[in-house]
Amino acid sequence: MWWHSIDYLKRDGRHRGVLVHRGFWLHNLPRLMLWCRLRGHKPVVDGHGPIGQGLRAARWVTCDRCGVRPDPQGNLPAKHFELGQPYTNDLYRPEFIQAMRELGSRTWGPGPWPDRPAGTLGGELVIGKTFGVFSAGITIGAAGAEHTLSGHLRIWPFGALYLHTEGFGAWLQRRLIPEGYTSRVIKVSVDDWAIRWQWWAREHEWSRDDPWWMHGRVSLDLVQALFGPKRYSYETVDGPVLGWVKMPEGDTHQVQLTLQRQRLGRPRLKRAKWSWNVDWETPNGGIPTKTNGRNRITGSAVSVPDEAVESRSWDVLACALIARKLGEDRARFGYVPSP
Ligand SMILES: [Zn+2]
Repeated sequence: MWWHSIDYLKRDGRHRGVLVHRGFWLHNLPRLMLWCRLRGHKPVVDGHGPIGQGLRAARWVTCDRCGVRPDPQGNLPAKHFELGQPYTNDLYRPEFIQAMRELGSRTWGPGPWPDRPAGTLGGELVIGKTFGVFSAGITIGAAGAEHTLSGHLRIWPFGALYLHTEGFGAWLQRRLIPEGYTSRVIKVSVDDWAIRWQWWAREHEWSRDDPWWMHGRVSLDLVQALFGPKRYSYETVDGPVLGWVKMPEGDTHQVQLTLQRQRLGRPRLKRAKWSWNVDWETPNGGIPTKTNGRNRITGSAVSVPDEAVESRSWDVLACALIARKLGEDRARFGYVPSP
């Protein structure tokens, strides 16, 4: 048995509000498997396929209780062995395996059971601010998954704990996911103003045909549910009128200006943020902001204050603002006027 750990704060640098972020592993941990030690292993045929045309099926032997495989695990002819059937053939004598190999046979029986089956426990601990609000879940890994069992708990602003096993929990794995390569997830989380859940959902997979209970989401944002999402809307108040944008370099461009009342708010709520917006476009190929006429701006919008609208000078002010904005762009790009 041996262990190792990584201090992620030391390796990747500190994060605000995180006191501890450490990964840890206990390797080569002896597996108890009390029942198998008392009664002996329970050999059954395990494997995969046939999956599709041209894909070869494979069969080997595993213990139905603890998931430990003999060494070698065997390579049985798929034609004669069903997945899950008890394996009784007395073919695991070392002399037999050796003989089969020497003959170059493509199938051979399983070897002896390992003396001291071992597994791994690992995890990751964060003390401090992580993300979201809350999440808790477990994953049952399918055969072939890196982690047999894994689970996590994350509570803002206290931290998070992730744990996983390799080998440990194989009994549960064999009971719950006897076939296939799809791990299953049970999880509930509260993040981004919503409760989400997964109930025996396929890991990293989602399908339109999944039953309703398999995954779901309930929004906690009551304001949004009642009044709708916050968004911009516009109403034309004046224009279009023509104006002239005089650039600092001396060139002048005709533009078409439209005054709009801009509203930022929820559709079903009276309260909103109002402002004035002048939408502009130029019909003559745009105003260049880079040397040699590259990067021509053909339209955009600027905002003007209430006073400019009250004094009916919004169009003049808008032209000055457009000239200033594009002048800044030209300065940034190192614009040189064409001769
Ligand atoms: Zn066993």
